[in-house]
Amino acid sequence: SAIELEGVVKEYVSHGEVVQAVKGVTLDIAEGEFFSLLGPSGCGKTTTMRMIAGFEEPSKGVIRLHGRDVTDVPPNKRDVNMVFQSYALFPHMSVWDNVAFGLKQKKTPQDEIKRRVEEMLAIVDLTGREKRRPREMSGGQQQRVALARALVNRPRALLLDEPLGALDLKLRQAMQLELKRIQREVGITFVYVTHDQNEALTMSDRIAVMKDGLIEQLAPPREIYERPATTFVAGFIGTSNLLSGTATGGVLKLGGGRVLVPGREGEVAVTVRPEKITLTTQEPASDVSALPGTVSEVVYLGTYNSYAVKLADGAEITVFEQNAHDATVTAERGDSVWLSWQAQHSYV
Ligand code: ADP
Ligand code: MG
Repeated sequence: SAIELEGVVKEYVSHGEVVQAVKGVTLDIAEGEFFSLLGPSGCGKTTTMRMIAGFEEPSKGVIRLHGRDVTDVPPNKRDVNMVFQSYALFPHMSVWDNVAFGLKQKKTPQDEIKRRVEEMLAIVDLTGREKRRPREMSGGQQQRVALARALVNRPRALLLDEPLGALDLKLRQAMQLELKRIQREVGITFVYVTHDQNEALTMSDRIAVMKDGLIEQLAPPREIYERPATTFVAGFIGTSNLLSGTATGGVLKLGGGRVLVPGREGEVAVTVRPEKITLTTQEPASDVSALPGTVSEVVYLGTYNSYAVKLADGAEITVFEQNAHDATVTAERGDSVWLSWQAQHSYV
């Protein structure tokens, strides 16, 4: 594996109090993987990255890079490179000189510098812009210069801490695909930090969802979305509906309806995604989960409609309905409706 963390803890002393920024993280990132750390602000993502890069020393635990224990190795001897949200380009230098900087420092021969900078600029799609200064470029272009500058040294792993945070939505989405392409092309391990769930879902081979200094779930995007391990993950990734209560004989009875939870007894928490729920005015068949409710909101969102439906116990359920060609809605505000979904779409 490329990067291993074993029981890594980071404590800071702040105003005489011990703060545990990272409370015990164990993970194993494969060579060539696009791996994301995802979680809300303050959950310990940056601290984890800074320990991998070597800018912070763990209070406890071990970090291994490509099989070698680097816990006490300084950043410049680690064979990883980091890209930040603020690109920190040299403003007075051209694009070419920004990218070539590290190689010149290492006294790399001129012709090799030329070859490698050219190759890198082609990969980030900036050929022809060599003479520009950072301020003459857009945010997305500057981010690509920063990326080229980090990659030109051929690190075995690249750490990216919210690198697209400063860009507007459109550009960010374009850059997500661009980053994914670049990673495929150079074939090195990327560790990507973000608080944006869509970003993580779009780009990653695997995602570690963090909360309060701990990993809540570590899995591929599809599994994180379809089978959230905790209610926190379910709530943080996409929109989800959470139902809970006591199941008897594999059925959870709720507000005049039922949620099928085959094989379950006792206290359960069930997540069901808005797009898995069908909204009807007729009572559904008996072999599906079915809950009666009243439509409290209908929002037209172009490709789909979003409904808020209030259940008898006051809970509100979100339902997404793909827009048909005629763009009609199944129900209006105030209508009595049934919500139904197949047992396999309840994740307990
Ligand atoms: P994230 O990147 O997920 O937003 P951070 O890793 O930056 O989170 O921070 C995690 C926690 O550690 C936060 O509560 C933060 O205030 C605290 N923290 C980070 N760096 C320091 C520091 N140098 N001294 C004291 N506390 C810190
Ligand atoms: Mg951070």
